[in-house]
Amino acid sequence: MSIDFTLSEEQLGLQEAARTFAAKTLSVVAEVIAPIPTPDQRFYAIKPFYQEMVDAGFLKALLPTAVGGTSMAQLDFALAAEELSKVDINTPTALLATGLGLQPIIRFGSAEQQVTFLRPFTGTEPLTAAFAFTEVTGGANFDSADPAATGVQTVATLDGGEWVINGAKHYTTNGTGWDGLGPDVMTVVCRTDPSKPPQESLAVIIVPRGTPGFEVTGVIDTIGHRATISPRITFTDVRVPAGNIIGRPGDGMEIVRKAFNWTASAIGAACVGRMRAAFDYAYEFARTDKRSGPVPVINYQNVGYMLVDIKTRIEAARYFTWKACHHFDVTGGDDEELGHMVKIFCSELSVQVVYDAMRLVGVDSYTDMTPVAGIMQDVLCFPVYDGGNMGVRRRQLHALLSRPDYDPVASAQGRLAAPHPPM
Ligand SMILES: Cc1cc2nc3c(=O)[nH]c(=O)nc-3n(C[C@H](O)[C@H](O)[C@H](O)COP(=O)(O)OP(=O)(O)OC[C@H]3O[C@@H](n4cnc5c(N)ncnc54)[C@H](O)[C@@H]3O)c2cc1C
Repeated sequence: MSIDFTLSEEQLGLQEAARTFAAKTLSVVAEVIAPIPTPDQRFYAIKPFYQEMVDAGFLKALLPTAVGGTSMAQLDFALAAEELSKVDINTPTALLATGLGLQPIIRFGSAEQQVTFLRPFTGTEPLTAAFAFTEVTGGANFDSADPAATGVQTVATLDGGEWVINGAKHYTTNGTGWDGLGPDVMTVVCRTDPSKPPQESLAVIIVPRGTPGFEVTGVIDTIGHRATISPRITFTDVRVPAGNIIGRPGDGMEIVRKAFNWTASAIGAACVGRMRAAFDYAYEFARTDKRSGPVPVINYQNVGYMLVDIKTRIEAARYFTWKACHHFDVTGGDDEELGHMVKIFCSELSVQVVYDAMRLVGVDSYTDMTPVAGIMQDVLCFPVYDGGNMGVRRRQLHALLSRPDYDPVASAQGRLAAPHPPM
């Protein structure tokens, strides 16, 4: 009996294919977007690269086989995500956001909803989806039990055979689509009755592209993820069929949790990829640059030790990510401990690691003469997005550890740390 971290032939092939794809296709994204001054135009400029990802099968990989997808395991997805994110964070993030937008339908949609809304994503078009969760007044208290003044303020009311949605969101990645008119599918987190707590009223409703009343009202600029779009969007009497609700009012709590459960470990892999990009630059610098001294700087103990520490932390982050992804796969996506821990661990580590790479490279790392400052701008996003690490600690992990049935060794043994109540 052993624990085997050896990748299979197929996994090595996938890793190599992703590495080759990234080197050939994604390596030019940085120079394409660099001169573009506005965030929306930067996002639109990555459409050809997204198309190439679709052509290479990365979008199909996220979708169930029942609708024509290839249903890639989370561990395999992480292997590819690390390679892609090492070279460019923007295009993989657009893909991740599409996956996040579709997760509610993948996990909780009816067979009819899956065929209607997921099947088109298995084709050859560069379709996008978005998850409209974060409110303009904040996302942290979406599950607040006090319905009166807090939580999700986007409201859907049933009018005959239709939901009528009103509200505003922001940071809805992919929320513009490729033309400002919206993504092909948007899953909108709302409340069906503002007088009821989210346990009874939180819902996720599918809004397809072209639905009247949807509007992009602005785009937030971000210091990193320069071609990841963070729009502000509004819903004014947006009408969709009553059948577009996923599950029932109140199910939104579980749907939101599971959607962010899927992204968590994938983000761990993205963090590893970005850390590797910083290491590679710092390592090459250390081996080749003398900084007007007698020998390349790797010969100095402080530089060598820092490289060792950076590399050690990257290795630890990768294998923790693999374990979390494996645990996600064996628990059917129900794990709510390791994925979130990996997201917190890898995202906060990535900031420390890239900072150390900056200290190692020295002052040039703070300029546009090296890629390291840009990598720092990218990794600073990881701890604050996807629910925010403080929120994840509080809502998911503190809550889990506070449960009387929490089992601290269950994850290590391949079991759920605490089974979650059914929807
Ligand atoms: C690049 C990028 C992409 C994103 N993509 C999406 C997307 O596709 N869809 C989407 O919906 N959102 C998206 N977001 C938003 C992101 O998911 C946010 O992390 C999330 O909405 C929560 O942010 P927050 O925790 O900072 O919440 P906020 O509500 O803004 O809270 C701010 C701070 O107050 C603290 N706080 C608030 N209330 C409490 C409390 N009760 N107890 C303790 N602390 C509290 C929080 O922990 C946090 O530190 C994206 C953001 C970025 C930057």
